[in-house]
Amino acid sequence: MSSVDAVTAYIGLGSNLEDPKQQVQTALQELSALSNSYLLCHSSLYKSLPVGPQHQPEYINAVATILTTLDPYQLLDHLQALEQVHGRVRDEVRWGSRTLDLDLLLYGDSVINTPRLQIPHPEMANRTFVLLPLSEIAPREMEIPCKGVLKSFLEGLLEGGIERLE
Ligand code: AMP
Repeated sequence: MSSVDAVTAYIGLGSNLEDPKQQVQTALQELSALSNSYLLCHSSLYKSLPVGPQHQPEYINAVATILTTLDPYQLLDHLQALEQVHGRVRDEVRWGSRTLDLDLLLYGDSVINTPRLQIPHPEMANRTFVLLPLSEIAPREMEIPCKGVLKSFLEGLLEGGIERLE
């Protein structure tokens, strides 16, 4: 992998079906084997209450960061392929249950707004289950393009409904 072209990307992981903790741990191993990429580190696992429909199990979440020479669309292809490996069934329920959800949160300082891919992930700055794990592995001064500095989102964070696992 050429370090000259490598970009730092952040990926959000979530699962609330079929042994969610195992789903996320396995996905982290799979991210460490992603082609043209190197897993730099990942956060602790967190247990969080569902966003949206409440009649669904709690989620396990984490955030990972990789160095990659994949372009953002190639990276999204790989992430979606991993979701499929985990048996994810896409249904019409927004924020519904899933075996594995992989969100491309940040790709360097890129801003992308296409029908298939929006970066930064549009909801990342509103989600405690993204911001808390992200704050473990990213500098508080990190700029989230078009949104602001990470630490400014951490200050107003509601910590209820989320628990860091050992
Ligand atoms: P979800 O059901 O939340 O996993 O959303 C998946 C859909 O969001 C897919 O059709 C993706 O093409 C689209 N999408 C747009 N931006 C992103 C992103 N930054 N990361 C992951 N999926 C994205």
